[in-house]
Amino acid sequence: MAIRQTEAIVLKTMTYGETSKILTVLSKDHGKISLLAKGARDTKSKYGGSLEPFTHINVVYYEKEGRELQYLSEASVLNGFLGIPCSLERLYPAMAVLEVCSRVVHGNEEHPKLFELVRQTLEGLSKTSKRPMNGLLYFMAQLASLLGYRLEAERCSHCLHLMEQSNFKFNVEYGRVVCGACPPALQSTTLTLTKETVAILAQLNKSNGAGVFNLAISENSGREVFRVLLKHLQYHLDELTSLNTLPFLNAS
Ligand SMILES: [Zn+2]
Repeated sequence: MAIRQTEAIVLKTMTYGETSKILTVLSKDHGKISLLAKGARDTKSKYGGSLEPFTHINVVYYEKEGRELQYLSEASVLNGFLGIPCSLERLYPAMAVLEVCSRVVHGNEEHPKLFELVRQTLEGLSKTSKRPMNGLLYFMAQLASLLGYRLEAERCSHCLHLMEQSNFKFNVEYGRVVCGACPPALQSTTLTLTKETVAILAQLNKSNGAGVFNLAISENSGREVFRVLLKHLQYHLDELTSLNTLPFLNAS
């Protein structure tokens, strides 16, 4: 049995037995891990409030290879992201981030960049006083890039012209934006997009996260951007069909 230490973000928790809890965490160094926290629901638990969803923690656990559930030994809070549960407008996009993560990460492969993207998105959501949905849109665009499905929105993917017209289509199958002048055969599985939507998609791709909540997005474009990113991710990742958090997002 090996003792491991890593940073982690709590994705979900469930009760176990009389006083214990099972946590699913996204760790920085060992992918997704299930941890049994003995006595975590006891009022005198050494874990205090450190084992709640969203919390960024440092964990020490015992790992036995081939076992699904590992034993948590220590946990300390690095950031509770306490601003998230204070408002439903921030809570729902944050829940969607955790659900998407929980579904797309399998096994113990390390994903330091994904971990950092989740941490940064939750930190932004916890602090922002405006446009919390921007955090989710940023997360989705960056997730697509990290997984190798970057959504190109700068040029028409067929004729390579810069996007200067007012009519655009998103080709779900190709994961590309095509201009209105391009052949309809390419546009068999398409969504029609506005110029604003295309510009926002390009900005979300380029963004490093700073200032993403300052990006003014009209309600209509916000919905379109969300729909395109979701379709795009769902096309590549079967795990993302029928997300439980979708009905809460008021974005479809
Ligand atoms: Zn074109």
